[in-house]
Amino acid sequence: MKALGRFWLRMAAIVAIGLACLVAAYRYRTSQRPGPVPRDVQREGLRLVEQILRKVAATDFGRSRRGRLLAEKIGDFIRRDRLIFTPDISWQAGYRRESLGYEALYVKVLRIGGRLLHQEPEFIAEGIFHEAVHALRGRGGHSSIEEECDGFAAGLAAGAAVTGAKLPELLLIDGEPLARFVLRSYPNLPRNPDYRPVGQSRQWLLQRTGLR
Ligand SMILES: [Zn+2]
Repeated sequence: MKALGRFWLRMAAIVAIGLACLVAAYRYRTSQRPGPVPRDVQREGLRLVEQILRKVAATDFGRSRRGRLLAEKIGDFIRRDRLIFTPDISWQAGYRRESLGYEALYVKVLRIGGRLLHQEPEFIAEGIFHEAVHALRGRGGHSSIEEECDGFAAGLAAGAAVTGAKLPELLLIDGEPLARFVLRSYPNLPRNPDYRPVGQSRQWLLQRTGLR
């Protein structure tokens, strides 16, 4: 009886330690989340995103299967209050998925002289459509050259929808083919021959971005 009591005590201790570790891990993860902006800045940002979605929806890209899938994913983040404006990220936007299923789409807010300013709609559009690709395709943060090409291609299409620019057949970033830009910017990212772009064929992705 005594031995049995010790057994359960030990079990309880192990379970308690396990729970404490889980709580610590959860606290650590949530403490790593980028911080939100004041409510009025968030509201203004969401208004900009809704204008962007309306503009994109009126273009060929927005009406395509690809455009609709990406816009739906962004709308999904908005409905769940998971499209969050923050000054705490260094890119235009970022997608975060945690192991317990929490996911959020973050959009960069500029902090200039103590003031919080939204980016130009073109850059917000680029950022959220790029990250929507990761949200639809990303598997635990492991991206690939193909996935980044898909993301940048989606971002360019959304940015052009906002400005009214016409994109060339071979997509360019800073004057160089999109794939070359991605290969140069992410030298350690693996290739993924099985990658399927959002709402399009692999052949389409290779052609539009110049990826071989
Ligand atoms: Zn990316």
